[in-house]
Amino acid sequence: MATISQNIFLTKKEKLSCKTCGRRISLGKSFVAESEDHKGTCFGCSPFVGYVMLPPGDAAMTRRSKKHSTLCGVVLAWNQRRKRYERRGQLVEEEAIEKARLECEKDQAARDLKNKKAAIIRAQKDREYIADFAMAIRERYPNCPPKRELDIAIHSCEKHSGRVGRTADAKQFDPKMIDLAVTAHIRHKETNYDAQFGKGKRKKEIRSDIQSDVSAILRKWQ
Ligand SMILES: [Zn+2]
Repeated sequence: MATISQNIFLTKKEKLSCKTCGRRISLGKSFVAESEDHKGTCFGCSPFVGYVMLPPGDAAMTRRSKKHSTLCGVVLAWNQRRKRYERRGQLVEEEAIEKARLECEKDQAARDLKNKKAAIIRAQKDREYIADFAMAIRERYPNCPPKRELDIAIHSCEKHSGRVGRTADAKQFDPKMIDLAVTAHIRHKETNYDAQFGKGKRKKEIRSDIQSDVSAILRKWQ
């Protein structure tokens, strides 16, 4: 049977109380409920007393310890900067962690190999993406200096790693995306943009000061 997951909020609310014992749950303490707007219990009244915390970061351990545990308490803490709850780990039975650890030890070598293969495929895809993107840049800016399209593509690929654009059909590059990448490159490599910072000028001013230089080079490269 699939393990039942339950959320445990390290709450950001000030006025929560336990539906079972009635005690107040203060800011940052565990509130066990479907959401903070539902009724829920304090940690002491929850079924997680005696459970052990497994920190996040190891996908196989997370999955396997959950599978072996009767319940799984997903511990969530509020990230004020991102304005969202984030996983801090999960509470599972100690025995479940032990079973998971044994399973992971057993197939460690096989999982390492699988991860290695996946990394090689990713690197290959990155190279293909960069080559395709460079070609698209060259098509749109045929007069850009030799090999420069590759510099721009590599930089843009590093900067946007993990973005949606990389998983979409690599050959369908949005002209706007190309223009942005080329403009950023020109700004940094062909103007005195970077040298103007730290002299009391604001980014907006600096950008508008070099705008005509950037436009002239864009036209030249087109
Ligand atoms: Zn309680």
